[in-house]
Amino acid sequence: MAGTLYLVPTPIGNLGDISRRAAETLAAVDFIAAEDTRVTVKLLNHLGLKKPMATYHRHNCGTAGPAILRRIQEGERCALVTDAGTPAISDPGEDLVALCAAAGVAVESIPGPCALTVALSVSGLPTGRFTFEGFLPQNKKNRRAQLDSLAAEERTMVFYEAPHKLRATLDDLAEVFGPDRPLAVCRELTKLHEEVLRLTLGEAAERYAAQEPRGEFVLVVAGRPAQAEAADEGGALARAEQLRREGMPLKAAAAQAAEEFGVKKRWLYNQLAGQ
Ligand code: SAM
Repeated sequence: MAGTLYLVPTPIGNLGDISRRAAETLAAVDFIAAEDTRVTVKLLNHLGLKKPMATYHRHNCGTAGPAILRRIQEGERCALVTDAGTPAISDPGEDLVALCAAAGVAVESIPGPCALTVALSVSGLPTGRFTFEGFLPQNKKNRRAQLDSLAAEERTMVFYEAPHKLRATLDDLAEVFGPDRPLAVCRELTKLHEEVLRLTLGEAAERYAAQEPRGEFVLVVAGRPAQAEAADEGGALARAEQLRREGMPLKAAAAQAAEEFGVKKRWLYNQLAGQ
C-alpha cells in the first residue's frame, strides 16, 4: 500500500513556532525530503530527532521528485520540509504535490508558519479579499507586465521579495500604483529584529533609498480603492460638461477633464458624445 506525502511547515524565524503535530509527523515518517539538509538538521537537533533525509530543491526537483514519488508508492511515508515556512508556497514543493496528486498518492498538509499569512494578518490592511503574488519575475519587462496587470486590482496584494531587489520593486510598485498607496513592509517576521512599517509606497521607496534593505521581506500593498474610479469618473464627467457649457469643443473638453481627473480620455469622450 502506498505511503503518504506530508507537507510539514517549519518556523520562519522562531523555533518555538514548530507545532506539536509537525514535530510528531517528523518523528513518525520514514524519511524527510528537505530543501537544504544542513538547515533541517538544525531543526531536527532542536527536536532531538534523527531521520534519513533526501534533498528536494529547485535545482534537482526534476529527478528528485519522481524518486521520492516511487519511494512513497512503495509504502514509505515522507515529510516534505523547506528551509522555512509552508512547503509548496513559493517553492518547488508545489511540483511534488502535483506529481503525487496526479499519481493518486495521498498528500496531507499540516497547518503552520507561513510568511504570507503572518504578514497579511499583521499588515493592518483589509484581509477579507487578497491576492498572493509571490515573487515578481526577475526580468524587468515581465515584471512590469505583471504589475501593469494588477493596476486595477482592488484586493490587498501580497508580494515576497529578496532584499537586494527590494529597492527596484518599491520603485516599480510606486510607479504603477502611485506613491500614495498604503502598504505594510513586513521584515524579519517572528525574528529578533521583526519590523512592520505601515506607510505609503512613496515613503517606503524613499526610506530604502537611504537605508540598505536587510533581512527577509513581505510587502502587503493595499488594493485600489473600490470607489475611487467611480468618484473620479463622476468628477471628470461633471468637469467636462462644465467646459462644454463654457464653449470648449468636445474633444478638447474630454482631454482637459481626463487629464485633471486621471481618467481615460477615450472613455470620457464617448460619455460626452453619447449624451
Ligand atoms: N514557503 C515559505 C512560506 O511559507 O512563507 C516561503 C518561501 S520563499 C522561498 C521565501 C520568502 O518568504 C522570502 O524571500 C520572504 O519574502 C518570505 N519570508 C520567509 N520568512 C520570512 C520572515 N521571517 N520575514 C519576512 N519574510 C519572510
